[in-house]
Amino acid sequence: MSLAEQLDTVTDAAAGTVDRHATTETFESTNPATGAVVGVFPVHDAAAVQETVERARPAAQRWADLGFDGRRQRLAAYRGYLARRMHELADLVHRENGKPHADAILEITLAVDHLAWAGAHAAKTLGQRRVRAGMLAANHAAYLEYQPLGVVGVIGPWNYPVFTPMGSIAYALAAGNAVVFKPSEYTPAVGAWLAAAWRAAVPDVADALQVVTGFGETGAALCRAGVGKLAFTGSAPTGRKVMAACAETLTPVLMELGGKDAMIVDDDADVAAAADAAVWGAMSNAGQTCIGIERVYVTSPVYDRFVAEVTERVGGLRPGSDDEAAYGPMTMASQTDVVRRHLDDATSSGGRAAVGGTVDGGFVAPTVLLDVPESSSAVREETFGPTLTITRVRDAEEALERTNASSYGLAGAVFSRSRARAMDLARRMRSGMTSVNSVLTFASVPALPFGGVGESGFGRIHGEDGLKEFTRAKAITRQRYALPVNLMSFTRPPAAADALARVMGMVHGRHR
Ligand code: NAD
Repeated sequence: MSLAEQLDTVTDAAAGTVDRHATTETFESTNPATGAVVGVFPVHDAAAVQETVERARPAAQRWADLGFDGRRQRLAAYRGYLARRMHELADLVHRENGKPHADAILEITLAVDHLAWAGAHAAKTLGQRRVRAGMLAANHAAYLEYQPLGVVGVIGPWNYPVFTPMGSIAYALAAGNAVVFKPSEYTPAVGAWLAAAWRAAVPDVADALQVVTGFGETGAALCRAGVGKLAFTGSAPTGRKVMAACAETLTPVLMELGGKDAMIVDDDADVAAAADAAVWGAMSNAGQTCIGIERVYVTSPVYDRFVAEVTERVGGLRPGSDDEAAYGPMTMASQTDVVRRHLDDATSSGGRAAVGGTVDGGFVAPTVLLDVPESSSAVREETFGPTLTITRVRDAEEALERTNASSYGLAGAVFSRSRARAMDLARRMRSGMTSVNSVLTFASVPALPFGGVGESGFGRIHGEDGLKEFTRAKAITRQRYALPVNLMSFTRPPAAADALARVMGMVHGRHR
């Protein structure tokens, strides 16, 4: 097939609007369940990425000039466009990522909700406001506002190809930036669809959201293209490379990285509810969820009951690519090697699989691992598969200690009927987000910031913090009237400093 023919297989609905630039090299995105080609995309080189960023610069200015109201209207048009085509997009997500259509609908729903929140709250969060000028500048008015950075680069993963990048894209756009988005090489069609949807819904500032496609080198080129900020979501090892590339141009970064999230089940927990949530948190999306539950620490009194409840539920799950399947194949075939390595390490170090433990092609059986030592890679490293370790602990304090003994710190969950106890554990959990008596819920609350600590990254998407993440604070003072004595002038009288020292002594000197 000639290059022209290859590129012509990219339909308008998938990637027709990805600008090819002078690119001749292409790559295929394939359906992980069947191997069928979903689309053919350009491998954008550094020149193509630079061109895209340069085209985004005037668009960023036009977009910023629209003001909060103009942007809110257009973001509403965009979310309306997505909401009217939920099934079309969900079908593409299903074909390219492998997750069930219903899960794709859930993911798109979250993204649409975040778009709505970001659009509605940008003016209040970022718009100019007066702050108290304080004693030393009492004759001035003081103003604070959060201004856009210009063009923001967004590099995304494949596991939630709509929701995850939209956490950066929606908030960056609402804050007044243009965005150049590099989707994962495993889900370029979804990225291209999102950009095509933008062009259709917001034709007057079509270049405010553009897509470049390719592999790591394309992402690295985006890091070096002079963007105002680079929002990266992906694994910690790639995050390090992104930071190194961004350091060359002092480009600030936002790092949304992996996790090894734990659930704590306390003595007084609703065990059935905890088991149900653990199974969903661990197995949905084939376990390919950054905030998925990978470890559970259960207190001794409820351990046996919890294990029985979990194993019974997991026994009813079947992976597949049909509508009835609980979850799909591993999106990235190589991830099965990581899962296999963790399973082998767990079982060879004294653990056992109570359920599952097998890998069949791209499908990993839902797996529950018991008695796995804390030193095992199945407990320490991100598995990113439909697996769960369940560990018996003395009490919730031991559970918290083990939860926090991780280099990651993205999210987690606590199950307890005592509100005070659960809230205390949640606050002391070393993670960016925690759900009490549910899993993953914080991701669906747009007002709550999303992000990790330690190797799970830094910076926040979502909520007011997520809007501010894509801005720079701008401070302005305006003199309202002149004072008889100006301390910041060579004309000040010699006695002024003594007078000032006396006043400070009166105001602050009494504090010991
Ligand atoms: P990955 O790190 O392999 O790739 C992420 C993106 O980085 C891809 O678009 C890839 O092309 C690009 N990339 C690769 N090398 C690069 C380089 N040198 N410079 C610039 N870009 C480069 O991650 P993945 O496998 O796509 O995603 C899975 C990971 O993402 C998991 O660790 C998961 O936990 C994490 N994740 C985190 C969050 C979060 O919000 N914290 C959300 C979803 C996924």
